[in-house]
Amino acid sequence: MHAAKTYRLRNYRVTPDETALPSYQAVCVSGEEADCGADSTDQPDEEALTRWMAEHTRDTGHDRFKRA
Ligand SMILES: [Zn+2]
Repeated sequence: MHAAKTYRLRNYRVTPDETALPSYQAVCVSGEEADCGADSTDQPDEEALTRWMAEHTRDTGHDRFKRA
């Protein structure tokens, strides 16, 4: 009996992960003691995300966001 296992390398293709779409999401990290945590959720595009941040800044004065 062979103790060693035989490994056969197979050709495989790396396929693009089509679920890995660019993410347009930001979380507000402004706040005095704790992050605000407001979450834009997924936006369809950069413009929508920018609009969300502008509205949040207008409503709350928060202006620090972390891109998710
Ligand atoms: Zn906020």
